[in-house]
Amino acid sequence: MAQGVWIIAEQRDGALRKVSFEIASTARRLADELGTEVSAVLMGSGIEGIAPELGKYGVDRIFVADDAALETYTTDAYAAAAAHVVREKEPAILLLAASVQGKDLSSRLVGKLATGMATDCVEVNITDGHLVAKRPMYAGKCYGEIVVSGSPQMASLRPNVFPAVENQKAGEVVKFDAALKAEELKTKVLEVQKDESGAVDLTEAEIIVSGGRGMKGPENYPIIEELAQVLGATVGASRASVDAGWRPQSDQVGQTGKVVSPNLYIACGISGQIQHIAGMQDSSIIISINSDPNAPINAIADYVITGEVEKVIPKMIKYYKKNTK
Ligand SMILES: Cc1cc2nc3c(=O)[nH]c(=O)nc-3n(C[C@H](O)[C@H](O)[C@H](O)COP(=O)(O)OP(=O)(O)OC[C@H]3O[C@@H](n4cnc5c(N)ncnc54)[C@H](O)[C@@H]3O)c2cc1C
Repeated sequence: MAQGVWIIAEQRDGALRKVSFEIASTARRLADELGTEVSAVLMGSGIEGIAPELGKYGVDRIFVADDAALETYTTDAYAAAAAHVVREKEPAILLLAASVQGKDLSSRLVGKLATGMATDCVEVNITDGHLVAKRPMYAGKCYGEIVVSGSPQMASLRPNVFPAVENQKAGEVVKFDAALKAEELKTKVLEVQKDESGAVDLTEAEIIVSGGRGMKGPENYPIIEELAQVLGATVGASRASVDAGWRPQSDQVGQTGKVVSPNLYIACGISGQIQHIAGMQDSSIIISINSDPNAPINAIADYVITGEVEKVIPKMIKYYKKNTK
């Protein structure tokens, strides 16, 4: 019989990502309610040494596939390796991150395992022994509760929403053979072009400074970048700025961009159309800087600064520089 709460942990360049600790801690909570154990799958090359860290967040057993074919993430290799161990051990629940990688991997994995999945969840609980996952629907206009009838019950969890709780436990590391067959490896990574800014990925960022059409043009973006740098934030954008070619598509927040949930979201010259709001409304604190006091985004903002971005942002930079040395 299927049992145990499992997670697929995420690492990049040999370091576990914060979201892995968030899903590990959530898995621990669910497992305690079910009276069962937490296991993690960790895949990569040369990553065995980082596996015990997951134990601190409540993982009892970490299944590690340390294989040269898993050095760089590919959907084929990671989904095949994960499916192999999940089929063999039959967990009852399988959680992944709703990160860029997690979304890609989970959609292939759910097909391979022929089960169902609730995506981008903001709450997960156990009711009558089943996983009940809450997720936004219709571009965030309402929330739905999903119960997966297949096995394992899969869910992807939105980064920055679930707390990472250290409980100081040590996890047992178990190696598993990824057993990758040549026909399963259809993708070959030729080159990885890294973002040299060193900024945290938008989906995991704790602070985001986002610019919209009110920035007027790319020549005004250095002030957004400077504010982000001073605050240790990641730069985001509305679709209007992306469509105008001022920012890359990877910066877009919203229904057709990234869904973010930072502690602080600063919207600079963004009107707050429903498609943008769908991507950032779960931010803990929202600051809107807009010349229009009636901009729709002000209705969901915690703080509103009515003024022109060209004047307000340099003042903020000056203030933070002076007060955060
Ligand atoms: C299917 C679909 C999917 C979409 N997906 C997305 C998505 O993922 N993300 C997204 O963002 N949009 C998305 N959109 C587009 C969305 O509807 C809006 O067009 C877009 O969000 C508007 O961007 P904006 O707020 O930057 O621009 P605008 O709506 O033009 O707003 C500009 C704002 O700047 C203010 N402003 C002007 N000058 C200044 C100044 N000097 N200082 C301060 N404020 C100033 C104005 O008062 C205004 O509020 C989508 C649309 C569709 C149809």
